[in-house]
Amino acid sequence: MRATRAQVVVIGGGFAGLHALRRLERVLPPEAADLVLVSPTDYLVYSPLLPDVVASALEPRHVAVSLRQVLRRTRLVLGHALSADRADRTVDVGPSERGGDGTVTLAWDRLLVAPGSVTRRFPIPGMSEQAHGVKTLTEALFLRDHLLTQLDIADSLPREPAFDAERRERLTVVAVGAGYTGTEVVAQTHHWLRRVASRWTHLDVSDVRWVLVDVSATVLPELGPRLGAYALSVLRRRGVEVRLGVSVASVERQTVTLTDGTVVACRTLVWSAGIAGSPLMATLGLPLDRGRLLTDAQMRADEGIWAVGDAAAVPDLARQPGRRSGQQKPPPLTAPTAQHAQRQGNVVGHNIAASLGHGRARAYRHKDLGLVADLGGSKAVAKPLGIEITGLPGKAIARGYHLMALPSMSNRVRVLNDWVLNAVLAPQSASLSVVRPEDALIATAQSTDIYPSPASSPAS
Ligand SMILES: Cc1cc2nc3c(=O)[nH]c(=O)nc-3n(C[C@H](O)[C@H](O)[C@H](O)COP(=O)(O)OP(=O)(O)OC[C@H]3O[C@@H](n4cnc5c(N)ncnc54)[C@H](O)[C@@H]3O)c2cc1C
Repeated sequence: MRATRAQVVVIGGGFAGLHALRRLERVLPPEAADLVLVSPTDYLVYSPLLPDVVASALEPRHVAVSLRQVLRRTRLVLGHALSADRADRTVDVGPSERGGDGTVTLAWDRLLVAPGSVTRRFPIPGMSEQAHGVKTLTEALFLRDHLLTQLDIADSLPREPAFDAERRERLTVVAVGAGYTGTEVVAQTHHWLRRVASRWTHLDVSDVRWVLVDVSATVLPELGPRLGAYALSVLRRRGVEVRLGVSVASVERQTVTLTDGTVVACRTLVWSAGIAGSPLMATLGLPLDRGRLLTDAQMRADEGIWAVGDAAAVPDLARQPGRRSGQQKPPPLTAPTAQHAQRQGNVVGHNIAASLGHGRARAYRHKDLGLVADLGGSKAVAKPLGIEITGLPGKAIARGYHLMALPSMSNRVRVLNDWVLNAVLAPQSASLSVVRPEDALIATAQSTDIYPSPASSPAS
């Protein structure tokens, strides 16, 4: 039996979903609708700070914002939405990672789909079995402890030539993708390991080899050529081997082969070369653009259905459409960033409320405020409102931006406290080893393979 009050169901409690619900809680009177959030976790991961977790600069819980604390009258249903039915207006929700009683079906009158993105996987032999993404707390924690374990094992190997090759493998890290995720993870983690490596009796700080690979000609292309060149020089000065213009051809258990034929023996492969919209989007049977659900400027995808954030292809009204062969191209899409996801959440909250008779719907328009990237130590790059800033001022802007954007005061204070303590105390290097390697692979950590085969989609 359907409820008498309108049911607003939101899938995904990340940047977009959380901000949409906060807005809905504010503008919709309680008697107007029940608000329901489907999320596999009871927290939002502030993903721009995951590199700080990998590099031991932040405690993992401090970048996890409690959904129950921030949302006051939203019912949280723990689990993954597995599919959404447009005809019946229902969503099937599978059990959460913490257990549960099998699949439940929720009825909706308004549906907001905001499950974010997953690490893009390529048909490269061995990639799925060996590569680790940096999208979830599980992956960030695994990577941190895995690197410490490699140092432990390398340190304990007999100092005999027969073990030299294995020692080198264990102390080599290959990272693929030099966008903000890959560059920040490499820069910050490299900086941290150099500070702690002397704690192992048989290791030297220079023993750890880092190789950062990207098919493009520059690092941090999102921040423009000057800041990209600055970041590149910081990385190279610190000893990171940056290999541009190449990609990965194949991955074996202990080697990565690049497209230029170079073979790098390593036991750690970090993958952050692109993202794709959540596989959930394909179950809706609506038009997609590279896995993202196409919406109009009000972020509506279909009657009663909206989509926002990384999983949505929203027209970017603040950027001019280009021209191709004298013809106007379709409008560009908003970039998959937290900045857009959060603001789209705010606007879509209004629009869903408007569809229930409270307020007026509006189009989404936001001029990008620019990105920041923390390179560890005193180095960072920032481009607020187009102004290029590096070094300590860049660092202050990057950290100030994240503190402001964290959606909970208690998380802000804890993160600030971690940063201050980390600046004045010796860095941490205790390994907790709480994540099993098989749980940290992209498919498992990001639950990419739990969805039924997609309904036929009109475009992809
Ligand atoms: C390491 C890293 C660094 C980044 N740095 C920056 C930065 O500096 N600046 C910036 O603007 N952006 C940055 N980003 C990008 C930014 O984090 C994303 O654009 C943003 O998180 C997108 O918000 P979202 O709400 O669409 O998705 P998310 O925040 O990922 O939230 C999606 C939520 O949906 C949940 N979910 C997934 N599937 C389902 C399902 N089937 N059912 C229910 N719930 C589901 C997920 O668990 C998650 O909680 C970074 C991303 C990463 C990974």
